[in-house]
Amino acid sequence: MSLMRNLPAALAAVALVGGLGLAAAPARKAAPAKPRLQESQMSLEKELLAKYGEGQRTRLERGMKQVTQFWRAEDGDAKAYEEFVRTNFAGDGPTLDALFERMEFALESFDGHTLEINRDFRMQTDLDRGTIYPFDETLAAYDPSAHVNDDFFANKIAFVVLLNFPLTTLEQRLSEGDNWSRRQWAEARLASRFSKRIPADVNLAIARAAADSEQYIAGYNVWMHHVVDEKGNRLFPAKMRLLSHWNLRDQIKADYGDSTNGLAKQRAIQQVMERIVTQTIPKAVVDNPRFDWNPFTNEVRPSTEKDFDEAILPAASAAPKLANAPEPDTRYAKLLADFQASRKADPYSPTAPTLIARRFDENRELPEARVRKMFEDVLTSPLVPRVAKLIEKRLGRPLEPFDVWYAGFKQRGKYSEAELDDIVRKKYPTAEAYKKDIPNILQKLGFSKERAEYVADNIIVHPARGSGHASGAAKRGYKAYLRTRVEKDGMNYKGYNIAVHEMGHNVEQTFSLNDIDHTLLSGVPNTAFTEALAFVFQGHDLELLGLVKPDAKSRALATLNDFWGTYEIAGVGLVDMAVWHWMYDHPNATPAQLKAATLQIARDTWNKYYAPVFGKKDVVLLGIYSHMIDSFLYLPDYPIGHMIAFQIERQMEKAGSIGPEFERMTKMGSVAPDLWMKKATGAPVGPEALLAATAEALPEIENAKD
Ligand SMILES: [Zn+2]
Repeated sequence: MSLMRNLPAALAAVALVGGLGLAAAPARKAAPAKPRLQESQMSLEKELLAKYGEGQRTRLERGMKQVTQFWRAEDGDAKAYEEFVRTNFAGDGPTLDALFERMEFALESFDGHTLEINRDFRMQTDLDRGTIYPFDETLAAYDPSAHVNDDFFANKIAFVVLLNFPLTTLEQRLSEGDNWSRRQWAEARLASRFSKRIPADVNLAIARAAADSEQYIAGYNVWMHHVVDEKGNRLFPAKMRLLSHWNLRDQIKADYGDSTNGLAKQRAIQQVMERIVTQTIPKAVVDNPRFDWNPFTNEVRPSTEKDFDEAILPAASAAPKLANAPEPDTRYAKLLADFQASRKADPYSPTAPTLIARRFDENRELPEARVRKMFEDVLTSPLVPRVAKLIEKRLGRPLEPFDVWYAGFKQRGKYSEAELDDIVRKKYPTAEAYKKDIPNILQKLGFSKERAEYVADNIIVHPARGSGHASGAAKRGYKAYLRTRVEKDGMNYKGYNIAVHEMGHNVEQTFSLNDIDHTLLSGVPNTAFTEALAFVFQGHDLELLGLVKPDAKSRALATLNDFWGTYEIAGVGLVDMAVWHWMYDHPNATPAQLKAATLQIARDTWNKYYAPVFGKKDVVLLGIYSHMIDSFLYLPDYPIGHMIAFQIERQMEKAGSIGPEFERMTKMGSVAPDLWMKKATGAPVGPEALLAATAEALPEIENAKD
């Protein structure tokens, strides 16, 4: 993952308001009062056009409209508004250029320095540096940029920008953006920073709903030793505690390797998942090992086995009452609360007045209709039944619904994990050893010696406390940070694999900030791009160790694995999208109504795209993802990410070398995704590269003799 920039959409909304939890929010009733400014605008137009000439009419009218849209009584009366426009309208070229340059420089400084502060305040919690004291956590939670939007409207910097630079819609950026100059793109990005003026109490409500649903999800564990089959047999080992949905799904994947009990375990997990989605799961068994539960019959009894430590269980679970009362639709109540909080921001976001629009038009910059079509192209591809048939052949049985998570295309490499650990440990005993090797690694990836050294000089390597992350700078001249785990006896293979991924982020961060024409355009179009670029590096980790390149067969298997994964998650993405539309269409729904609608949407989506392949109807599994409950329409990013990764990787293959292509692509910055992709690969964002690679990979495996 990459830290700070390109935050997942949902987190970005929270990051924007982080820290507000400490401030008391003023009570607010309806939308804020606005002074009447129409007459002021008419007289200003006459006055300023006389001064600057008729040629400024469009700019002036647009600027005043943009300012008026956000101007509130607290910003001043009509006279103050007139004075503001008169003083701050940049009516001639040199003044406008000066304003643009000043803003670009100032905002780079603001972003860059607040990011440095943020990273420093998190240093103890992020790095492997011993005890985290309570004050370390308080420091880490502080976000110096939390109130910047409020501040910049209050001191009118935001209004200066809105008066002089255009707010744009996604449609404009897509239909006109290909012909814009780089400066026009930079101006559009500058204005978009102030496309919303969301009151503090609304941001606070969103942050609270997000924190609340996150907490619900974070505690949603199932104690698997207490999940029994029809005969009361325990299928899973003692102490196994799986978080929904991630661990449950990954257990299904792992169980393909268990030839004795794998299938029974997978079927049981499917039952568990369906009980969660339909909320027929007994409330008493959620994160509670005191009861044994048969998810097929839904029978609950006090457990005869104790595989837990009393101290770690919440006190409430100790209630001796035997309850098989179902969870009372809490899952859907949380989702509904996310929706109710999100829509409070709608009136303050005129260019993207729903959360759906904010995700697609602003965060992804891909129209929702196009994204839906991209997903449908994968879901209805004639390749799906062919891959499905191949999976059945490999499994030796008909597909069952949980096989949407089939993991058998993943091949065990030639080297065991232990062998790889040994190799890496010797090569990189410390973080410094890895840091020293970065110029060599980059040259192996095709960068020239000079470029490799230039980038390596910009990267600082730290041992991470968690699994790892990359944190780029936001101001030129500051460094990019690579954090990965380094064990006491050296880096293991997992730590190295993550380091190579994070290094991909760091290289992108270096070029897309320091080697770009406008810092207002630094970065990449959206999260999917930054991850795709990092995966290009990560996919070469074994070659970089001097171990064998993957052969044609293992590459084909990896492609089929990605294709099947995209097929699965594209349906999940469609469910997420349809559920948000349903909530906007039924704003007064109850949790029970939302549950009924979600189940219907999940079944319909399954029946349309999966039932013909799996031979079973009305499955609700597509509704199991936890992101649906706590991540505010984030799920469509996954299938888009798979598609983008294939487009970028294919282009690198075509070019024959990663280094120069990587640099060329990352210097385009955060223009619209389609424009970026057209310049990078010759085609807009879409599923074609993934489908083409799958079509090539299929015969490779279908015709294999083994
Ligand atoms: Zn990443």
